[in-house]
Amino acid sequence: MSSTKRCRHITLAKNHVAHIEQCAECACISMHVGPLTVRLEPKAMEELLSALAEATKKTHLLSYTQAFTEIGKGVA
Ligand SMILES: [Zn+2]
Repeated sequence: MSSTKRCRHITLAKNHVAHIEQCAECACISMHVGPLTVRLEPKAMEELLSALAEATKKTHLLSYTQAFTEIGKGVA
């Protein structure tokens, strides 16, 4: 992240939850989630994506497990 050039952000992706931008000057990533902005190096964004994908997968597995448990109890 250069201190001599001013950041110039370009939108990479945007939805109702997050807005992801990358600086055309220094390549840093800015991730806006509600009132929170997180600045990351591009490699850190890839690591974050990996962690989010793993967490999402586990969340789905947990919900399936809970659904089957409820079915087993005759609740669902
Ligand atoms: Zn920049």
